[in-house]
Amino acid sequence: MPIQILPARLANQIAAGEVVERPASVIKELVENSLDAGADKIDLEIERGGHKRILIRDNGGGIAREELELALSRHATSKISCLDDLEQIMSLGFRGEALASISSVARLTLTSKPAAQAEAWQAKAEGRDMAVQLQPTAHPDGTSVEVLDLFFNTPARRKFLRSEKTEFQHIDDTLKRIALSRFDVAFSLKHNGKLLRHYPKASNDAAKLKRVTLVCGNGFGQHALNIQSQYQGLQLHGWLAEQSSNSPDQQYFYVNGRMMRDKLIHHAIRQAFEGLLPPDGHAAYVLYLQLDAKEVDVNVHPAKHEVRFHQARLVHDFIFRALQDALVNLPEPAAGDDDS
Ligand code: ADP
Ligand code: MG
Repeated sequence: MPIQILPARLANQIAAGEVVERPASVIKELVENSLDAGADKIDLEIERGGHKRILIRDNGGGIAREELELALSRHATSKISCLDDLEQIMSLGFRGEALASISSVARLTLTSKPAAQAEAWQAKAEGRDMAVQLQPTAHPDGTSVEVLDLFFNTPARRKFLRSEKTEFQHIDDTLKRIALSRFDVAFSLKHNGKLLRHYPKASNDAAKLKRVTLVCGNGFGQHALNIQSQYQGLQLHGWLAEQSSNSPDQQYFYVNGRMMRDKLIHHAIRQAFEGLLPPDGHAAYVLYLQLDAKEVDVNVHPAKHEVRFHQARLVHDFIFRALQDALVNLPEPAAGDDDS
C-alpha cells in the first residue's frame, strides 16, 4: 500500500480508542467539558445504559456559532495555546480530542448558546469526512451534547459493551467521583426517564456531608470521622470510616481536586489503618489533599489516575500521620447499608 494520510474520520476513530472506551468515558469527558466551561448545573439523561442515548445539558459559558465546527475537530481546544500553558494546566481537558473522538464513533449533536449571542446554534457531525451541518435552534444559555448510538459504526467496539445495567453502573460511579470533587456544582442523573441521582449544590459543611452520604451511603455518612490536618504546605481534609467488607468500596482520594488512585497514597492509608480494622472490615474514605501545584505532576494520560509527588516521602508520611492521629477516635464499624 502507498503511504497516505488517513481520512479525518478514521484518524478520529483510532484516537477514540484511547478516550472512549464505554459510555461512562463519554460521560466523564462531557462533564469535564461542562465544568471547564464554568457550569454550576449539569444534568444528564441516559437511555439504555448509554448505548442508545446520552444527553448532557449545562449552564456554562457556551460555544459561539463560529466555533461550533472547530469544537468538533481534532486538536481544537480553547484551553491551551503553548507549552507553558501545559506546565500549569488548570482545566480538566486540554487535548482537544474528546468531541472529535466521540463524534467519530456516534451520532453527535452539539447545541450551544453563549449568553452574549442572541440565538442558539446546533452542529451535527455526520458522514465520513465529518462534515458539520449548522442550524439555528432554541436553547437556554449553555451547552447540550447529545450522543446517540455509541459505536454504531465500529462493531468491534460495540461488541465490548456490557449489559445496560453494568454500563449504567459505570456511569453512576463516574458521576459519583465527579460529584465529590465539585460541591459547588449541582448534578442530576436520569436513566430511562427516571431521576436516580440528584446532588444539589452544597455550600456549607452540613450540606457537603449530605452529598457525601448520598454518594457513599448512610453507613458511611453516619459514622464518618471528619479530618483536617496540615503540615509544611500540605493540607488534608475529608472523612474517614470503617466499613464491613460486604459494603461496596467507598474510597475516594483527590489531589488538588483531581481524583487519584495512587500506590503511594494507598500505601499510606493502609498503613494508618493497619491493626485497627477487624478481619471483615475495610477502610472507607473521602479525602482531599491540597498542595502547591509545583510539587506534583498530574499524569497527563487521560485515563490514568496517577500522580508523581516531588517529595514523595513527605507526602506519604504526612498522610499516614494525619490519618493515624484521626483514627484514634474511629467509631464502631458502619453497617453494610448503602444508598441503592
Ligand atoms: P478539550 O476539552 O481537551 O479542549 P474537547 O474536544 O473536549 O477538547 O472540546 C473542544 C473545545 O470545545 C473545548 O476546548 C471548548 O472550547 C469547547 N467545549 C466543549 N464542550 C463545551 C461545553 N460544554 N461548554 C463550552 N465549551 C465547550
Ligand atoms: Mg474536553
